[in-house]
Amino acid sequence: MNSRTNGERDAVKNNARNLAPIPLSKKPAAESFYPNRSVPGGAGKTACIRTFGCQMNVHDSDRMRRMIRDAGYAEVGRYEDADLIVLNTCYVRENAVDRVRGHLGEINRLKREGRVKKVALTGCIGAAQESQELERQYGVDLVLGTHNTYELAEFVGLPGMEETYTPELPGTEGEHSAFVTIMTGCNYQCSYCVVPSVRGRMVCRPMENVVEEIRRLVSSGTRYVTLLGQTVDAWRESGQRFCDLLGRVAEEAPRVWFTTSHPSNMEDRTLRLIGEKDTIVKRLHLPVQSGSDRMLKVMHRGYKSERYRRKIEVFREAAPDGTLSTDIIVGHPGETEGDHEETLRLVEDCSFDSAYVFKFSPRRGTEAAGLSDTVPEDVSQRRFVEVLRAVEQNAFRRNQRKIGSVEEIYVRHGRHGGGRNGEVGKAVGETWSGHAVHVPTDAEPGRYVTAKIEGAGPHVLYAGDPSGPPR
Ligand code: SAM
Ligand code: SF4
Repeated sequence: MNSRTNGERDAVKNNARNLAPIPLSKKPAAESFYPNRSVPGGAGKTACIRTFGCQMNVHDSDRMRRMIRDAGYAEVGRYEDADLIVLNTCYVRENAVDRVRGHLGEINRLKREGRVKKVALTGCIGAAQESQELERQYGVDLVLGTHNTYELAEFVGLPGMEETYTPELPGTEGEHSAFVTIMTGCNYQCSYCVVPSVRGRMVCRPMENVVEEIRRLVSSGTRYVTLLGQTVDAWRESGQRFCDLLGRVAEEAPRVWFTTSHPSNMEDRTLRLIGEKDTIVKRLHLPVQSGSDRMLKVMHRGYKSERYRRKIEVFREAAPDGTLSTDIIVGHPGETEGDHEETLRLVEDCSFDSAYVFKFSPRRGTEAAGLSDTVPEDVSQRRFVEVLRAVEQNAFRRNQRKIGSVEEIYVRHGRHGGGRNGEVGKAVGETWSGHAVHVPTDAEPGRYVTAKIEGAGPHVLYAGDPSGPPR
């Protein structure tokens, strides 16, 4: 870790984070939110939900899961055991669509054999024109975009409902960690991106509804809340901005994170708040996309690399021990070797802890798909590897500096059996600085353990045996 963090390293904070043990294993049986018929439409039937893409889709799937359960369906993991299959899809890059096509082909075969009865295609592909072609080609029974999720109710045998803004539909409750949508859509028009056309313009959810949902989740046992939106930091409501909402949420939830932010909306006071509030995980995901001002302009990102660097300085100052991640696109039309070098320089300067690096994928209807100065595949591939390598080298160096520190670790996923050579696997946790850690503990997800970091790779830290019981 950065030298500024030395003094903080061993300070295991165990303060105002509401760590009193709660019976996580006794999840309250969520009451049916949807008015149930005396004989539920899905009674005796099974459903399988498959999710592709980002956290927004994972959360939308959870809302559909709630509907399907409330309709009486039992959830199964395999297509061949399901009466109903829901494919909740991503449209951001072409390879995501290719994957969905593969699944639809397999499902169509099962349907012809009579093993699957109905299939619904939902999410971002559902909102795109291409869905009509897929519907015809693969015999899809229901297509839903991201705005009309409420229509699934009637399809699964619940009484039809009025048009409802998707974030107001409840997900499952009683889980140790939960997503809470604070805004949908996006008002930017990045040259390469389909999100505005499939998710629409920005709509912000009222602060009171967000806070009320968080209170409900916390009282049902949730200890970790992640605020979601395509540009969460663009949230606003009658003079209040994202920083005000985050401050309020940080008072209600014992552990808070948010994603995804846009550099043009990110206020310095939000970055300082991350450092100040004990309940906020000190992890910032701030997509930069390119280090070249020329490319940032072509992409219509609305900021220059210098402004981005300044934001990062404020974050590092506010949370010296924190982690920083980003998204980078290589091979956007018009990207020269000089632009690529500037991206590598920015990666070096910002010293990211991790990054999602993508090769440009032309998307129908976007400005970039119509540009002629495309980058050859072999060049994109080389740039992709170079950026990835630079990120990993930095991340490895930074992670090495964590060795020896004692950390309070939030267990996200419990131990899984069958590690390499038949060893028992390790639990996966997260430090308050936002580092992913493998830790040998049987603690349930949602508990905290304290342990010393004994090793580090580019993507994850390795902790020794925890001291004391889980909290
Ligand atoms: N709203 C977020 C933002 O602006 O940073 C990101 C949303 S997008 C679903 C996630 C990431 O996918 C983007 O940050 C971008 O790096 C990548 N992406 C989007 N469209 C892409 C495309 N056509 N080709 C390659 N990567 C793309
Ligand atoms: Fe897409 Fe840009 Fe909006 Fe992010 S900010 S969702 S990349 S248009």
